[in-house]
Amino acid sequence: MPLPSNKATSARMSAQRVRDTRCEVVLRRALHRHGLRFFVHRRPIPELRRIADIVFPKARVAVFVNGCFWHGCPQHATWPKANAEWWRTKIERNRTRDLDTDARLAEGGWQPIRVWEHEDPEAAASLVAEIVRGRNSSRPESSPPRPTTG
Ligand SMILES: [Zn+2]
Repeated sequence: MPLPSNKATSARMSAQRVRDTRCEVVLRRALHRHGLRFFVHRRPIPELRRIADIVFPKARVAVFVNGCFWHGCPQHATWPKANAEWWRTKIERNRTRDLDTDARLAEGGWQPIRVWEHEDPEAAASLVAEIVRGRNSSRPESSPPRPTTG
């Protein structure tokens, strides 16, 4: 088998790095070990133009892995001195957008979960698994119909 050319390999690798951060990959593996199935990089709500990193349609749980720099992590936010204003505006915009996304998902009956890239992915996976299982077992369809008294 001929080796792929260097050009093709590096193009593929750089494309992957943009999308799949290490934290995200480890988190996905851990979730698989928990026996969970999910979609990757898709819109939880098709009409809402926001893409979650990990989506559980049945439980309506959307997981976002937030980079500490880009999303202004309270522990690791670094504010570059060069072009400070531009960076601050950009990061603040991401944070505002995150809050807006979470609010819209909640309105649609979804549970958004934010995981910082500095968090332990195994611990995050346990938390996500717990939430997904909890929501799967309390689906509205499986609860008895409400009495129509009143
Ligand atoms: Zn952080």
